[in-house]
Amino acid sequence: MDNMDRKPKASDIDDVDFLRSVHRISLDGKWSVPVRWVSIWEMEPLFPAMPAKVVAAKFRQLLKRGLLDGCPCGCRGDLELTADGMAFMVGSLTEPL
Ligand SMILES: [Zn+2]
Repeated sequence: MDNMDRKPKASDIDDVDFLRSVHRISLDGKWSVPVRWVSIWEMEPLFPAMPAKVVAAKFRQLLKRGLLDGCPCGCRGDLELTADGMAFMVGSLTEPL
């Protein structure tokens, strides 16, 4: 199958990868619990194969599913995991955080 011309979609980003990245940034490098919000602009470079609008679409999907909190208007977003998002992430991990 030739996927070379296929446009990337939000579903190409793994749910857990995305949630784990938000979580890791929210720890601010030294804490074991989230201490800050994460901007959508911090997420974009983590998925270099994905256009920014696809990363934003992924955020909106997870927001709709109640796994993330934040603002999808196009501002910095202030992403954070909800309690459901945290449970989903932890329950899906195959290796330690
Ligand atoms: Zn906003």
